[in-house]
Amino acid sequence: MLTIKEFRKVSSIEEAYELNQKKTNRIIGGMLWLKMQTGNVNIAIDLSGLNLDTIEETDTEFKIGAMTTLRDLELHAGLNQYTNNSMKEAMRHIVGVQFRNLATVGGSIYGRYGFSDVLTVFMALDAYVELHHAGIIPISEFAKMPYDNDVLVNIIVKKTALNCAYLSHRQTKTDFPVLAVAVSKLHDKWQAVIGATPHRAVIIADEENILGEKVSPETIEAFANYVKDNVKTDSNIRGSAQYRKHLAYVLVKRALVSIGGNA
Ligand SMILES: Cc1cc2nc3c(=O)[nH]c(=O)nc-3n(C[C@H](O)[C@H](O)[C@H](O)COP(=O)(O)OP(=O)(O)OC[C@H]3O[C@@H](n4cnc5c(N)ncnc54)[C@H](O)[C@@H]3O)c2cc1C
Repeated sequence: MLTIKEFRKVSSIEEAYELNQKKTNRIIGGMLWLKMQTGNVNIAIDLSGLNLDTIEETDTEFKIGAMTTLRDLELHAGLNQYTNNSMKEAMRHIVGVQFRNLATVGGSIYGRYGFSDVLTVFMALDAYVELHHAGIIPISEFAKMPYDNDVLVNIIVKKTALNCAYLSHRQTKTDFPVLAVAVSKLHDKWQAVIGATPHRAVIIADEENILGEKVSPETIEAFANYVKDNVKTDSNIRGSAQYRKHLAYVLVKRALVSIGGNA
């Protein structure tokens, strides 16, 4: 059980950041992951009064506040149009609607969970995290960083010519994914993001330009094999390392076929 001594609804991000420097204090998003933990929290830092629960779309980017719920991501017309419905596909399997109405993108991205659909899909986009202290950094870098006491304020997705598809495999509905895959063509380069390996999502870029300009059944097959050979997987209760490699091959292939390979 998690025992919280004091609840503080902060009135600025700076106040949240200062409180968060104390190891015994914790920022709370939807509190769905936190409540599963055991321990004592001195001050629970609530960001819900800071207007961070909106998705702002401009001609050049989406700015997604840390307190935006997974359900809002799932239903956002602009984000779904931009990502070929990858956003919806990544969110819709996470537990249930009531859960997704509470879980926040801030808690999901900050957590950098190995099983994360949320991290996987954002890594397939030209996405950045805005941290109060460290500033704006690419999400691919943030995914490798150790946990610290910064405050995640926004997720920024820069608009570019994008082709993208998302698929996951679960043993049963609403369970954690056995493997999650997002393929995207960004800045004219193809990449596959593989999540739930079961470690934090990784990018396997098409460094050898296997998919080239014209995607064909042969190049799709070759790239799916390339991903399978280059992704590091491990075993856990949901699947073996070998099974995950096979899933990476199958899901990359299906994802590329589903978007026809054309940006
Ligand atoms: C039973 C269960 C099943 C799940 N299944 C899946 C799944 O299949 N796929 C998937 O992708 N995810 C899954 N998740 C994870 C879920 O989607 C959320 O990512 C998770 O609950 C965290 O979001 P939250 O808003 O509840 O964060 P919280 O639990 O409130 O916080 C999580 C962590 O993030 C920190 N934090 C929160 N907000 C900020 C911020 N703005 N800045 C800095 N630190 C912050 C907190 O201090 C805490 O350490 C599951 C979670 C649960 C509990």
